[in-house]
Amino acid sequence: MMIGAFERLGAAMRRLRVFAVSESRRGAPVARKSLPCRAPVRKSPAGRKMIAFGARFMTNADVARVFNEIADLLEIKGESAFRVNSYRRVARSVGELAEDINEVAARGGLAAIPGVGKSSAEKIQELLDTGRVTVREQLAQEVPVSLLELLRIPGMGPKKAALLWKQRGVDSLDALQAAIDAGGLADLKGFGPKSIEKIRKGIEFLRSSGARTRVGVAWEIAERMRDAVAAMSGVTRVEHAGSLRRGCETVGDLDLLCIAADGPSVIERFTKLPDVKDVLAAGDTKGSVVVEYAPGRSIQVDLRVVPAESFGAAWQYFTGSKEHNVRLRERAVRRGWSLNEYALSQGERIVAAASEEEIYQALDLPWIPPELREDRGEFELTETPLDLVTAGDIRGELHMHTTASDGKFSIEEMACAARERGYEYICITDHTASSAIANGLDAERMREHIRAVRAADAVLDDITILVGAEVDIRADGSLDYDDDLLAQLDWVVASNHYHMSDDRDANTQRALAAIRNPYVNLLAHPTGRIINRREAMPIDIEAIAAAAADSGTALEINSNHLRLDLKDQHARLAAERGACISINCDAHHVSHFDQIRFGVATARRAWIRRAQVVNTWPLKKLRRFVAKKRSAAKH
Ligand SMILES: [Zn+2]
Ligand SMILES: [Zn+2]
Repeated sequence: MMIGAFERLGAAMRRLRVFAVSESRRGAPVARKSLPCRAPVRKSPAGRKMIAFGARFMTNADVARVFNEIADLLEIKGESAFRVNSYRRVARSVGELAEDINEVAARGGLAAIPGVGKSSAEKIQELLDTGRVTVREQLAQEVPVSLLELLRIPGMGPKKAALLWKQRGVDSLDALQAAIDAGGLADLKGFGPKSIEKIRKGIEFLRSSGARTRVGVAWEIAERMRDAVAAMSGVTRVEHAGSLRRGCETVGDLDLLCIAADGPSVIERFTKLPDVKDVLAAGDTKGSVVVEYAPGRSIQVDLRVVPAESFGAAWQYFTGSKEHNVRLRERAVRRGWSLNEYALSQGERIVAAASEEEIYQALDLPWIPPELREDRGEFELTETPLDLVTAGDIRGELHMHTTASDGKFSIEEMACAARERGYEYICITDHTASSAIANGLDAERMREHIRAVRAADAVLDDITILVGAEVDIRADGSLDYDDDLLAQLDWVVASNHYHMSDDRDANTQRALAAIRNPYVNLLAHPTGRIINRREAMPIDIEAIAAAAADSGTALEINSNHLRLDLKDQHARLAAERGACISINCDAHHVSHFDQIRFGVATARRAWIRRAQVVNTWPLKKLRRFVAKKRSAAKH
């Protein structure tokens, strides 16, 4: 189904160069030019409405949020770091869990989650059962919960919030604003005029921003800012850092690092770029600005000017993640060294600083690709995994739409755009009858459509156009087309668009039924989530991965930046269970092919290797994958 919102990005994205979010061994981005597409660009109609998702339930993210809040409240109250950290550990473990927390609880496995002991397990259980945790309720009696709002101000931690509350009675954003306006923070230790001004701007920023920015939006801004800085005289290098470089699905702030002859002048020019709506800070080596990308929606962009001799240390430090860096620092400390954004050093002696490779090497580690820097097993690596999938490995797209259903371009136009990207094959997978809202094809129209795709394939050279369909999975798990029609298709995508319920078992059974169909080759956007808009439906990823692996069915990483579904942790689990992955743009427009970078980044975060991704394979091998499943069903 088309997601109208990212149409807005289309025009701008067409102008952008195509970058894999991946990086080579040496850390330089792998660039590949995309030729302009000859296909005419048509105006798109207003976006279509998404199907609303059902009622609320406690997700892993909900549980993680509550435990983080408890940690914050404890810290504000002044409790021991030990106690605070034990709650943070639980939050992180649950947040990263691939399995649904409700399912873990049902089989009595809460206490076995890493970082979760018996007493935390009881608290999680209480939260799942009642929607409350007693310890949080008790804390709320002692510490105003509205103080948590303050923590969303950039640079404001629990300790500062505690000071504001205990010394000045500030207990909310509004109270803080009022205190600043009335000059009530003067003389408060740690709150000089500069830091008060920063807080004031922070509050303003907070009011104009909300959740984290989706990577598709952040990427565009980051690229524009990077290009602008790179074009400044005296600048010899500019790089992305932070969660954008790690390929995360959403981004808090954008971080840019550069090497430049004249730092203050670069920062000054940076704060005057046309995108800048507000300047939060401008010093000799660091500038912080706010960029507004939609009415009332903005993102903070930081630029740091770093000496060439310590660029590696800075890049490593500002790329994060926090968890990865904590572990890396521990390694340094064990050797009697220290590690910060300036260097890895032993007292006065610098051990390594200029490049990331040197720093990792000095700590007996291979260079770790940014997407893996999450403290999820990367410290056990003995060499850099060179076969993580890259955008350059993708040979074709196996999920896209044309004007036959809800796409904006014809078969030939989509094929032409794909060919110009260097793809060897594509599969046209228009919607089927249940997707009436998307002008889905009934069996009769589909037979005609098959002839049209075959005809286009006969005419176009240098690319193979396969014919397929994105077949709707019905409520009972059956498909929109019968097997006779499916057998005429080269590749079949199955999707659940309309039956995403709160019933985990029902959702799972629908997906499993589709996977068991001998003609289904790909389960698309398996959890149905829309980032920042709709939660994933509850579904048993492990069971789906196992069935996919057994039957020779691929699972999708949908690259649309609103979906990124499967998400990284789910995709990793699926691949570890032996399921093949297919990374597709679900393109409804020729410009959507650009989104492949987000799907590839997600796959890399899932530690997925080139060989595990079916659309990196030559067409012959892909056809064998399809034939094998079909013939297995006959025996
Ligand atoms: Zn779909
Ligand atoms: Zn689709």
